[in-house]
Amino acid sequence: MFRENVFNLNQIPQFYQKDFSNFQNKLNSFLNSNDQHFLPQKNGTKKDILFLGATHGDEKIGVDVLQTLPANKNFDWILANEKAFAANKRFIDVDMNRNAPGNINSELYEEKRAAELVRQFKNYNYVVDIHGSVANSGLFIILTKLVFDDLLLALQFDIPNIVIWLPKEQKATGPLVQFANPGIEIECGPKDSEKLRIILKQILDDFVTNYCKGIDKNNLKNKNIFWVYGKLENNKEKLVDFQKTVINDEEFYPLLVGEYGIGCYKMTKVFWQ
Ligand SMILES: [Zn+2]
Repeated sequence: MFRENVFNLNQIPQFYQKDFSNFQNKLNSFLNSNDQHFLPQKNGTKKDILFLGATHGDEKIGVDVLQTLPANKNFDWILANEKAFAANKRFIDVDMNRNAPGNINSELYEEKRAAELVRQFKNYNYVVDIHGSVANSGLFIILTKLVFDDLLLALQFDIPNIVIWLPKEQKATGPLVQFANPGIEIECGPKDSEKLRIILKQILDDFVTNYCKGIDKNNLKNKNIFWVYGKLENNKEKLVDFQKTVINDEEFYPLLVGEYGIGCYKMTKVFWQ
């Protein structure tokens, strides 16, 4: 069940409340049945899975791991931001992960590239975009929209922390996987950790082998679902990602402590078992 006692619907912007209720209802019926669910299949796809690495050019962990996965008929992967990757920069012209679905006629590199990538998405059933952070966050999954199939896709990964992180305002542009159904992001931090690379490889190997299997409420065991609701601009406390804290009587879970020069993002936990 969603823990409504700790989760105030007012923390959700008005324009997300209907989608959130639908999501919540689907999760509740999922938890109350033994039914097996399967990831959706579209007609006319080339392969099932598309992985993206280095959507941000200075986050190489995805590419490092993807190039070591033995090729098979189930997946392809793409070096998403080739130019920024070569320059070891987050982006060349604009942040690609804020500017999807892009514009194929744009002179801005990432706007054009985002449009090329989003066009590719229809050739695949599932899109998984792999990022890397500076913060010591470990591995976690980001859902960028309130679509239940995104959660089902997330549950096929052996990653306990799932973060619902929606744009603060309704805009036409946003993260790449907002335009893939289902599509999710995996965040890995710190991005230069050799240990994390090994764990990520194991997790992707398992996923590529097992993603067709049925999904049921047992897949939610040990999973935590969080909701990002705000930002702490300045911070002098010692904060740890995903470890509950209280500042000025406000209880929250920190995310990406010290990333982007801010204190951290603030999350509330909406589901755990
Ligand atoms: Zn990133």
